[in-house]
Amino acid sequence: MTDGFTEAFGRAPDGVWHAPGRVNLIGEHTDYNDGFVLPFALSRGVSVAAARRDDGVIEVRSRQAAGAVSAPVDGPPVVSEGWPAERAWAAYPVGVARVLREHGTGGASLLIDSDLPQGAGLSSSAALECATALALCDLHDVEIDRPALARLAQRAENEQAGMPCGLMDQSASLLCTAGHALMLDCRSGLSSQVPFDPAARDLTVLVVDTRASHALTGGEYGRRRAECEEAAALLGVDALRDVKDLAGALGTLRDPVLRRRVQHVVTENHRVEAAVGLLRAGALPELGAMLNASHLSLRDQFEVSWPEADTTVDAALLAGARGGRMVGGGFGGSVIVLTPASRAETVREAITAAYAERDWTPPGFLEAVPSRGARRVS
Ligand code: ADP
Ligand code: MG
Repeated sequence: MTDGFTEAFGRAPDGVWHAPGRVNLIGEHTDYNDGFVLPFALSRGVSVAAARRDDGVIEVRSRQAAGAVSAPVDGPPVVSEGWPAERAWAAYPVGVARVLREHGTGGASLLIDSDLPQGAGLSSSAALECATALALCDLHDVEIDRPALARLAQRAENEQAGMPCGLMDQSASLLCTAGHALMLDCRSGLSSQVPFDPAARDLTVLVVDTRASHALTGGEYGRRRAECEEAAALLGVDALRDVKDLAGALGTLRDPVLRRRVQHVVTENHRVEAAVGLLRAGALPELGAMLNASHLSLRDQFEVSWPEADTTVDAALLAGARGGRMVGGGFGGSVIVLTPASRAETVREAITAAYAERDWTPPGFLEAVPSRGARRVS
């Protein structure tokens, strides 16, 4: 990274920072219902080599994008400037610089490199924001605690890049520790570390990229959010997280679609709490049952699964995995599978064979090892 930076900018960087991607173990479509999520950081992520500048300019280059983008740190929200598509990626780092400027940071030259696939649901956008945020704070001697920095990085994605994401991705990237998952309460923003070290229990977590695109996600995602808001309003609660009596709530709602949505969100929050209990008790293999229940609920109650995800889970279970579920918003993206390490290869082969039988693009695999959060690396 250091050599690449010197080549690009004609001077050595002041340092290199790294922020990981994440996968959410359980707690899907709970975040915008003020509920719970349980992500953990991956070993893969985004690295940023950076040098301080005192001319109020942020200049960014990425090994994964062509050209350089240079912009003043005090400008309007990037999304309002209508940058052309080929510069759109730079809204993330420039947006972070514009948000953090209010807290005393300034300009910098950045070279970005990443080993995370983009747009695969592993949160490359938050990793890019968090690595940039740490670099800017260190370079300009600004101290912001990590939960607050996560909120600022989220703000950058919402206001600067124009993406209405929740707080999970930035919190996971900044707050996760190795061998743990992060229980995050999306209402309060409070989080706690939950031991999660699959390898120590001879288990493997696979992330399977189903190679199915998110064609419908935009509209369907918005519709699910609206349905949850409508159900909460009908039930007289601020958010579905506040539904304490599920049977009573289901009795009150007349629309079967809203009943299914409520059933998923309420039970999914309980599954996150159950998963945390199992992890704290050291009952890691039992987690598989929670993943399976989550998948069925997402498939049948929330209705956001897709054929490749269902086939992946079915094939994994038949081959001896403990459990699996779709992750992310739905209609495309990835599946996580929990399997005894000794069966991981068999599980991979079974999933690949199931895709081949259906003439689908072969799936991608990545082993997910709960890793440490964002940090300075040199
Ligand atoms: P995800 O966060 O799941 O990977 P997003 O659509 O939220 O998917 O974010 C992906 C976007 O983040 C990319 O389209 C690009 O704009 C930006 N991005 C991520 N990593 C890089 C990188 N290494 N270089 C340039 N842009 C990146
Ligand atoms: Mg993202």
